[in-house]
Amino acid sequence: MGKIPTLYSEEFLTDYRTVDCENPDRVSEIYFRIKDIADVIEPELCGTSDLLLCHSESLIKSVERDGEVFDVARKAVGGAIKTAEISLQQPSFALIRPPGHHAGYNFNGGFCFFNNIAIAIKKLLSQGLINKALIVDIDLHYGNGTEDIVKDDNNIAFRNIDAYSRPEFFEQLEEALKDASSFDIVGCSAGFDLYIRDWGGLLFTEDYRKIGSLLASSNPHFFSVLEGGYYIPDLGANVHAYLKGIQEACL
Ligand SMILES: [Zn+2]
Repeated sequence: MGKIPTLYSEEFLTDYRTVDCENPDRVSEIYFRIKDIADVIEPELCGTSDLLLCHSESLIKSVERDGEVFDVARKAVGGAIKTAEISLQQPSFALIRPPGHHAGYNFNGGFCFFNNIAIAIKKLLSQGLINKALIVDIDLHYGNGTEDIVKDDNNIAFRNIDAYSRPEFFEQLEEALKDASSFDIVGCSAGFDLYIRDWGGLLFTEDYRKIGSLLASSNPHFFSVLEGGYYIPDLGANVHAYLKGIQEACL
């Protein structure tokens, strides 16, 4: 395939109120490294009805009180939705922040405000564009928010990779993808904090190439949404390797 459709906005460089490690340098570094293989598309803000697919009114109102975060977080959700829509034609990537997989129906945390990937999947389901979806979470941290939102939904399977060695990681990933072709879409919560120099201390840059390839080979309708990843000097190289793996799988 050619360049990978990538939802990205300079609004993600907003230095909104959050923890120091989840900062604008994350996405600017990634953008700088992947722009040669990314076809950048500006996302739109999602609507309140989109947020209500996965979150309570009180949670939405609590985020709304900080207008700056609310605007950027709605743009991130809009990016995830568009990425999922594009993936029905070709693999795509949402280079967005804030991340989302720790945001549940009525709680958030872990630098997340709204659950980008869950909203994207639920929107496609609600529109009848898909009937059955698989979400794979490769972030270091457990996608507790995603699990909270999808656990009672028979149309969405959620599989979290929770490995303590590289071989175990790939065993679990292959297990998680063994029936991936039977789903209408596969979405990946793509965190890069399992990197050897990041908090997880497990995976190498080249591993992300293999991960991207395995995921993209599992189903032609595949999209990825950025979650964590905090070792900024190598974050762009890791995402670049991941997208290269996706490209190679789609030749
Ligand atoms: Zn994480």
